[in-house]
Amino acid sequence: MQVHADRDKCEGHGLCADVAPEVFELDDDAVVVVLHEQVPSALERKAEAGARVCPVAALRVST
Ligand code: SF4
Repeated sequence: MQVHADRDKCEGHGLCADVAPEVFELDDDAVVVVLHEQVPSALERKAEAGARVCPVAALRVST
């Protein structure tokens, strides 16, 4: 699984990083960074949950 982050859309709410800190973090400019190019299978559910809570739909999950 991969997670694509649209960093132009991200508004830095940080909800994704609250839900899945193993997958998402915010950089110094409060823009999301995806920590795994390929999300390990053990983190897939968290990655999906983090992507779902984004209020501006900046995160897209693909397999
Ligand atoms: S929840 Fe969405 S807007 Fe907020 S930091 Fe994550 S990607 Fe950015």
